[in-house]
Amino acid sequence: MSTFKAPKGTYDLIPPRSAEYLAVREAFAAPLRRAGYGYVETPGFENVELFARGVGESTDIVTKEMYTLTTKGGDELALRPEGTASVLRGALENNLHKAGNLPVKLWYSGSYYRYERPQKGRYRHFSQVGAEAIGTEDPYLDAELIILARDSYRSLGLRNFRILLNSLGDANCRPAYRALLQEHLRGLDLDEDTRRRIDINPLRVLDDKREAVQRQLTGAPLMADHLCAECKAYHERVRELLTAAGVDFEDDPKLVRGLDYYTRTTFEFVHDGLGSQSAVGGGGRYDGLSEMIGGPALPSVGWALGVDRTVLALEAEGVDLQLPAVTQVFGVPLGEEATGELFGLITRLRRDGVAADLAFGGKGLKNAMKSANRSGARYALILGERDLAEGVVQLKELETGGQESVALDRVVAEVQAKLGSLPTR
Ligand code: ATP
Ligand code: MG
Repeated sequence: MSTFKAPKGTYDLIPPRSAEYLAVREAFAAPLRRAGYGYVETPGFENVELFARGVGESTDIVTKEMYTLTTKGGDELALRPEGTASVLRGALENNLHKAGNLPVKLWYSGSYYRYERPQKGRYRHFSQVGAEAIGTEDPYLDAELIILARDSYRSLGLRNFRILLNSLGDANCRPAYRALLQEHLRGLDLDEDTRRRIDINPLRVLDDKREAVQRQLTGAPLMADHLCAECKAYHERVRELLTAAGVDFEDDPKLVRGLDYYTRTTFEFVHDGLGSQSAVGGGGRYDGLSEMIGGPALPSVGWALGVDRTVLALEAEGVDLQLPAVTQVFGVPLGEEATGELFGLITRLRRDGVAADLAFGGKGLKNAMKSANRSGARYALILGERDLAEGVVQLKELETGGQESVALDRVVAEVQAKLGSLPTR
């Protein structure tokens, strides 16, 4: 062991589990690519003010969870706690919205950092895949994104998740509702912290997970009952589109989510096997964000899916991802000359797309065969001095132990033929 450990709240992704993470990212990304979303990558840190404004001064993310730093040059930066503000900043800075082709559809994948109280499913460094459709107000887009996320989870084999849906209204109807809610909340018996929240972001009080708070909220006014006609019609349309696409969802009138910038459609994917860290993804419409960070009006919608919690959800459901074998063929050379020959063969197999590896470090037969078995390969290619003299190599099927001599100049084709008829594992 080294003197050092990974920092609190972080962990290393190591084989073989790391392959599941890659598979989850790919399962999220592939449908986005097929739906016209282009890949975007922004810096891992940004001007701290971007998040203060773009995520919201009153959110837990900004008040408690940001990793901030001052550079030697005096810049105030923050490690990115989420993706949307950065992606929108990048789209605006690169004038993507001016290319005359709205919506700008983007997807991203990367690491995010929040100074949280670490526990299972809640880390200080975690991984998200996200998607944003920028610049268009259209219920079909809200529906598209929810359908894409839902289909991704299902393509991974997840079944025990639910979609929670709500509308947060807009600049027309939310202010009046907000005032009504504030008035109601001020009449309740709440602690000091929560009382402060009533002034800054009263909607978030509805989302309080504590039993003592929830008990008092039964009679609270709900946004759903105070939507203006436009917001109501928009929300109805999104619901119809989801139903038409065969997507089950639950109306959750108390769903508000942590970020300040959401308007209208808001949704969360929750998994029932994860205990209190149950949200595997979430998102919604953020029509006001662009203006909040100095851009033009660009109504947008997006989501971010948590890779770490999705892997935990797969484990909770016992889903075995059908991952391809890491190594299909393993070379076991005996002696210097055989190593040179086999190294050449393995290189050719790799160039032909076969996952191949070999024993390094001049191992003896016993140790090299151990490595072959550990690699999970189907076949070993064993090459000794006598084989070399005869121009053959031993092709051994590791599971059955069956072995045959194959001419060196035919072995690549032979291996290809055998693997071609095998299902990938
Ligand atoms: P929570 O309510 O659990 O704190 P959140 O509302 O802060 O979640 P978002 O900002 O919406 O989460 O991020 C989208 C997804 O990213 C979440 O649904 C979750 O799967 C994942 N996520 C967020 N924070 C963490 C974290 N600290 N560790 C692991 N995954 C996280
Ligand atoms: Mg959070």
